[in-house]
Amino acid sequence: MRSEADLLPLSGLQHLVFCERQAGLMLVEQIWEDNVFTVQGTLRHRNVHEESPRRERRGDLIIVRGLPLRSLELGVSGVADVVEFHRTDDATGVMLTGCDGRWQPFPVEYKRGRPKIHRADEVQLCAQAICIEDMLGTRIDKGALYYGQPRRRTEVAMDDSLRELTWAAARRLHELVSGGITPPAIPKKECRACSLVEICLPSAVQRQRVEPYLDRIAEDEEW
Ligand code: SF4
Repeated sequence: MRSEADLLPLSGLQHLVFCERQAGLMLVEQIWEDNVFTVQGTLRHRNVHEESPRRERRGDLIIVRGLPLRSLELGVSGVADVVEFHRTDDATGVMLTGCDGRWQPFPVEYKRGRPKIHRADEVQLCAQAICIEDMLGTRIDKGALYYGQPRRRTEVAMDDSLRELTWAAARRLHELVSGGITPPAIPKKECRACSLVEICLPSAVQRQRVEPYLDRIAEDEEW
């Protein structure tokens, strides 16, 4: 169990699973650079959070946008794009102020681009689910990632392997931050989409080694 002062940004888990060095640069060295991908992501999140109302009911569905999240056990805090609450007869459903019956939370995270081969987005979603479980005393078996290409949801099961990956990422993120550790750069194809590539790989020696590698990767390759 961690204290409020020890909480780290939930989004840091996504960065860490994508690249440990990226998480270190952002959270240990406090470096942030935008590129076209981060700007698209920010605009997408802004659109979600600025939709109104923040809480909307459509029959047996309640939609909450911009829900603050926190888990002292996981040691993270953040904001959920969307949490849907579906009416349920299941005892794991939660009670909501002003609404009768029980409701099953279902987190939805909005992402630019296509579904990825790495699990960074799934880990971020799972961390949101764990936060909601801690806050509301419930159990969440699934959520969804909504990608811009194609514009549809991908359902994500909060199974044991994803939960273990998420807990491991949270432990590692705290290890990096508390130890002031920024892991070394390991050039990979994902570097092409990384907003920190110019800062991460600054030396001429590294550039000579990395740039031909990066140039071999197609310009339009999604990470
Ligand atoms: S440029 Fe590559 S190694 Fe450096 S932070 Fe980005 S993804 Fe990680």
